[in-house]
Amino acid sequence: MLSYSKLGFGLMRLPKDDEGTIKQTEVNRMVDAFMAKGFNYFDTAYAYAGSEAAMKAALVDRYDRALFTIADKLPAWSLKSEEDVERIFNESLKLCGVDYFDFYLLHSIEESHYSTYEKYHCFEFVSEMKRQGKIKYIGFSFHDSAEFLDQVLTEHPEVDFVQLQLNYLDWENGVIQSRKNYEVALKHHKPIVVMEPIKGGTLAAFPTEVEAILKDYNANASIASWALRYIGSKDGVMTILSGMSNEEQMNDNLSTMSDFKPLNVEENNLINMVTKKVLSYPTIPCTACRYCVPGCPMKIRIPDLFTAYNSAKTYGANRRYETYYKNHTSGQHHSASACIECGQCEGVCPQHLEIMSLLKEVSKEFDH
Ligand code: SF4
Ligand code: SF4
Repeated sequence: MLSYSKLGFGLMRLPKDDEGTIKQTEVNRMVDAFMAKGFNYFDTAYAYAGSEAAMKAALVDRYDRALFTIADKLPAWSLKSEEDVERIFNESLKLCGVDYFDFYLLHSIEESHYSTYEKYHCFEFVSEMKRQGKIKYIGFSFHDSAEFLDQVLTEHPEVDFVQLQLNYLDWENGVIQSRKNYEVALKHHKPIVVMEPIKGGTLAAFPTEVEAILKDYNANASIASWALRYIGSKDGVMTILSGMSNEEQMNDNLSTMSDFKPLNVEENNLINMVTKKVLSYPTIPCTACRYCVPGCPMKIRIPDLFTAYNSAKTYGANRRYETYYKNHTSGQHHSASACIECGQCEGVCPQHLEIMSLLKEVSKEFDH
């Protein structure tokens, strides 16, 4: 049986100071609050800069290993040879300060990453690590079509679980294919770890007219709690990851998931209304994962510029968003118009966004 903690602490968006350093003391407090409520699933990755070390300091060095479970991930985009697979795996074990992972994933499978994982025999490697007791359960996170997921699960029945992007806004989205991917995972009898249930914060705050739909029904429930309850109500969901960035988000999620109540029919209807309304805004569906940022030669803070654009499109042009845009295009960070169209960002975007052309729209909005 898989270890089970309905809420998982996603360590991708840990709190940082203005210099970009992870705030370790705050992370420690968040870990303590999470553990105190009986949750134990921690999701890190080699690709989340500083996350493994911060987790070691907050969790591994302070709690008995038997009390928590760790998920870590191998990044296809860092593999240049077969030797890199074992090197990165061992590096992750060391950075986390553990001698085994409870869950280990091939990170972000989509067609090009899949061919890298096949080329360097990564499925065979993780199966061997499982045999040696260095991994308990093997899986992969996935960002592609349901048809492709079906192919991967058919070719690799040995995986124990899958990690999928599931949330109500993406449920019928033609690119993300939340519902279709969910159905494929069920067909293959794979437990599901959910990522992006709140879509990088998109489903935590809406314009007043949209929030009113939910607040009129239950004034005390946070907007984010609806997103967690929506996805937690689905069969086959093992754990819901939330990439929490501060103690307020942590406390809100803990309160939702400690006393979990599935959505009833009326509440589901309200979510359908909210979905229709939110999809009518012409926003960019970026989840702020920041995978595109480190490789940009022009140091463009792509997700931050998309946030400024989305805010302007949702709430109307406002000096506040112009200031936000200016703050993220100062110093060494360039504006949207500085993009040299090298294509690096589009190659790594798990949401398959046409970033270069979207930046042109952002530039039209702000660069004047
Ligand atoms: S295409 Fe533009 S935004 Fe993307 S990485 Fe290259 S310069 Fe940066
Ligand atoms: S543009 Fe794509 S890769 Fe960049 S932060 Fe947004 S979702 Fe992530």
